[in-house]
Amino acid sequence: MTSIDPTSTTNALSLVNVTLEYPDGDGIVKALDGVDLTVQAGEMVSLVGPSGSGKSSLLATAATLVRPTHGLVIVDGVDATGLADKELTTLRREKIGIIFQQPNLLASLTATEQLLIVDHLRGKSLKAARAKASELLDMVGLGPDAGKRPHQLSGGQRQRVNIARALMGDPKALLVDEPTAALDHDRSDSIVRLLREVTDEFQVATIMVTHDTEFVPLTDAVATMRDGRLSAPVLTAA
Ligand code: ADP
Ligand code: MG
Repeated sequence: MTSIDPTSTTNALSLVNVTLEYPDGDGIVKALDGVDLTVQAGEMVSLVGPSGSGKSSLLATAATLVRPTHGLVIVDGVDATGLADKELTTLRREKIGIIFQQPNLLASLTATEQLLIVDHLRGKSLKAARAKASELLDMVGLGPDAGKRPHQLSGGQRQRVNIARALMGDPKALLVDEPTAALDHDRSDSIVRLLREVTDEFQVATIMVTHDTEFVPLTDAVATMRDGRLSAPVLTAA
């Protein structure tokens, strides 16, 4: 990976020699230890590895939610580690979509409103936001359910709302942590396929943490975490 220029904007997302340390009693835990990873627009990488190996830490760092102790996080050609907190918030809003295991939807809002509230935070016009929300909910297969609230939707449908919501800001990178952990096999399969489709259609750089190696062939490459260290991504056969 060293021949790749991490500041090139065709590389939507790069981590360069990233180390993340947490205090741990008298010592420290290295949640990430010299991690290098570059993901290009339209590319989807699976991240696998045992519990506690640093997968969520990698996603949180790539999402700029956590600042690395050392190293660079480059999003769409911008070095996030050089930004002040306020600029970082803007970068995150404009460039990064985050999808965690639990959709974290607001109980009182319809699917459409879950999407509108994100755009409202970005200060966009309501008319444009409505059109966009409707288009995205159609794309994830929830057009007819746009007026439903979370309790009226299945777990798989709630995760679809979550995915549509993450796409509202036209992100360059999509960071997905165990999106199928709460779903049965068939729903898990359709959610991973949807993420693949979204990666292609919107040309986002996607990193998906998964414990289910069955879904790895739907992605372009797989990288393994162990004790905070990341193996070089291996291209999948499919
Ligand atoms: P995974 O997602 O692969 O299960 P994590 O990234 O959650 O792994 O954790 C990696 C290591 O970092 C673990 O040793 C964990 O205990 C530690 N860790 C994660 N988050 C924190 C935190 N906020 N404070 C202290 N240690 C943490
Ligand atoms: Mg985790």
